[in-house]
Amino acid sequence: MAKLSRRSVLAASAAGGMVTASAVARAAGAVFGDPDQPAEGAVNVTDKRALVDPGPRDDALAANEKIFLDPPATDVGGMPQFWASFNLAPKRIQDGGWARELTQSDFAISETISGVNMRLGTGAIREMHWHQQAEWAVVTYGHCRITILDQLGRAQVADVSAGDLWYFPPGLPHSLQGLGPDGSEFVLAFDNGHSSEFNTLLVTDWLAHTPPDVLARNFGVPVEAFKNIPLTNRWMFQGKVPGPLAEDQKAVASPQGAPPNSFVFRLSSMKPNKRTKGGMVQIADSTNFKAASNIAAALVTVKPGGMREMHWHPNADEWQYYLKGHARMTVFNTGPAAVTADFHPGDVGYVKKSLGHYVENIGETDLVFLEIFRTAKYEEISLSDWLTHTPPAMVAATLNLDPAVIAKFPRDIPDIVPV
Ligand code: MN
Ligand code: MN
Repeated sequence: MAKLSRRSVLAASAAGGMVTASAVARAAGAVFGDPDQPAEGAVNVTDKRALVDPGPRDDALAANEKIFLDPPATDVGGMPQFWASFNLAPKRIQDGGWARELTQSDFAISETISGVNMRLGTGAIREMHWHQQAEWAVVTYGHCRITILDQLGRAQVADVSAGDLWYFPPGLPHSLQGLGPDGSEFVLAFDNGHSSEFNTLLVTDWLAHTPPDVLARNFGVPVEAFKNIPLTNRWMFQGKVPGPLAEDQKAVASPQGAPPNSFVFRLSSMKPNKRTKGGMVQIADSTNFKAASNIAAALVTVKPGGMREMHWHPNADEWQYYLKGHARMTVFNTGPAAVTADFHPGDVGYVKKSLGHYVENIGETDLVFLEIFRTAKYEEISLSDWLTHTPPAMVAATLNLDPAVIAKFPRDIPDIVPV
């Protein structure tokens, strides 16, 4: 629609290089689809040679973010970078797998969440550890066994697969192990932008840095029993594929019983909260994934041509992880400021609390991404819901809209359009 706007036609006539009479006339006042003065966007550049970047440049890298090279004319001003990518993060590789991360040191805007992308091969172990932050995770590939102990001595061992979540509250000790046939890959979100997967409390470190006689007294066995403990931490290492799940579950059982709320949630198989012609949304927060007391998530699927509608979140910043397809998101702030970025699989986006945004599927296949929030409950405000639940005369007077047009807007939070 915007592609055939008046400004495009004017721009085509101006293309060729020199300032034309029509371009000068347009500079006198903003027009629909090209609102600001001074006008922004390539369409407003009269000498097109000014659009060429003589370099230096990296064409392959730059081509990944086409919209940065040629932002829409409705974009205006600037805002802190809200695009990052695991694709460009260095890997820490050890025997068994690897991990890479995006903390607030790498991605300054990401104050509430830091992200980790990890791969564990078959049998590989992420060492028994704990940390001060809550850990939320989504499995993106394969199968993994998790273990955790809660503060009342209740243990859980569970196997998770692609599409499943886990949530480990702060301080609760846990471990991860890749299962057959080809291990697992997953993404972790910590509820603090400064958290690092390379800086966790490791059981090997603690034992190695405790006097042997203290170990003997603490565990009630002779000092010699500990003579083979590792003297450096393991963090990640190759192990053997564990036995049947039921055997591990039996081995960890305690008189206190099982944790009342599972630390695992099968997100991708839950009934969608919203389903429209344009796609669907599946939400896991403390109302249905009861253990997840401080991180809420929405798994969003947008069909080709569909769009995650214009909206915002009143209670938390949004950390996004893109799983499949190609997306384009524009974020709106006061100023006004509006900035657009493209997202590909493995990319991460971040939207500050209450800033307006929408996410378009610009590809030929389904777009799938996660919205993650440091909060107990998922919340959003839909622009169309607001405009259809405000007196029509108010909306009509504000936006110069015909009330009959407003009556056609989607009502009741469609989430994905078209409805
Ligand atoms: Mn952990
Ligand atoms: Mn959102």
